Amino acid sequence: MDVTLTGKDFISILNEIADAIEKNQDYLSELDSALGDGDHGVSMTIGWRAVKEKLPELAGKDIGTILKTVGMTLVSSVGAAMGPLYGTGFMRAGMAVDGKQEVTGSDLVKMFVAFREGVVARGKANVGDKTMVDTIHPAVEAFKTAMEGGEDVYSALDKAVAAGEAGMKSTINLVSKMGRSSRLGERTIGHQDPGATSSYIMLKTFADAVKRHRG
Ligand code: ADP
Ligand code: MG
Repeated sequence: MDVTLTGKDFISILNEIADAIEKNQDYLSELDSALGDGDHGVSMTIGWRAVKEKLPELAGKDIGTILKTVGMTLVSSVGAAMGPLYGTGFMRAGMAVDGKQEVTGSDLVKMFVAFREGVVARGKANVGDKTMVDTIHPAVEAFKTAMEGGEDVYSALDKAVAAGEAGMKSTINLVSKMGRSSRLGERTIGHQDPGATSSYIMLKTFADAVKRHRG
């Protein structure tokens, strides 16, 4: 069973992501207090509130435009590292579905892959560096592999969420090699990465929302 998502569906899903981030604001900042400057929840909330304010004016626009606008809004509203990282991810995801009023499962694969490419192009992190890429990379691979293997989009999303969760948890035992937390070196062991966690929250919210479209 495939899925068809419209621009309206995306606007509703993006609203849900904004709410999920705001709900987890304190948790994300707590994680960032152990590893960085303690602002990840605040920065994410500022960025996603700005996105939420923009969403009403995106009604009727194509999905590429919606996602590119989300990306540009995150870049321009957030000072911390996550702004340009997630911003570039969403802009690339939007470019992958430029002009489309509807997307299906195979478009979601293109969007996920482009999102990852954007984050990696911007931040140059590898898997194992203890960043959001530790969630994003395995999640995208699991989704792509399941879809290419002929699984339906809903089971592919379940696999993406499971792989993303495992990736997020893998950051607990890693030494940070990227960003602000890399200065703490070995002292980062034992703490889950905030960006890996916010990526998981966005992915899980997206997957749960799409699964509600199952007929
Ligand atoms: P800042 O370090 O500016 O305070 P945030 O607190 O918003 O930024 O985000 C920190 C998160 O950003 C980290 O937990 C990590 O997941 C992610 N991050 C930092 N540098 C990179 C990078 N080069 N590539 C990918 N992700 C990164
Ligand atoms: Mg921070």
